[in-house]
Amino acid sequence: MSAYIYIDGWKSNLRFSSAHVIPEYEKCGQLHGHTYAVHAKITGKYDKNGIIMDFSLLKDTLKKITDELDHKILIPEKNSSVKIEKDSSSVKISFLGKNYVFPLADCVFLPISSTTAENLAGYVLEKLQKKIVIPKNIESIEIGVDEGYGQGARISKTF
Ligand SMILES: [Zn+2]
Repeated sequence: MSAYIYIDGWKSNLRFSSAHVIPEYEKCGQLHGHTYAVHAKITGKYDKNGIIMDFSLLKDTLKKITDELDHKILIPEKNSSVKIEKDSSSVKISFLGKNYVFPLADCVFLPISSTTAENLAGYVLEKLQKKIVIPKNIESIEIGVDEGYGQGARISKTF
């Protein structure tokens, strides 16, 4: 039989607070921040012990991913309208005639086109798959990223 396990990032402390800009949207085109929460829903067949997947492995792995993003400036590396120039200690971000200069250590560079909740959810899902071996009994993984309480995006992958 199939069932799912669910982790609510607000209640399980899978949160991160980060700054970003979304150049494509006027209101979001200025540097601002959110507290995000990451949720996970794992659907699969459970074993004779009634287990789909080890909760603590899943939580610990997601916590590592959120810790990498926490208190950082999120920089999308795959946006052709965002120019990124790095030197040994700082990074200059330019788009639409604006320039931001940040300490390199304060930034995390993400292989996505824009730091929307949708793309961040996709990023977390990819990272999760790289960090753990997905057991054979798993049928789908859904990752959610809330951008503040009550709004967010969900992405799912079927195996
Ligand atoms: Zn935002």
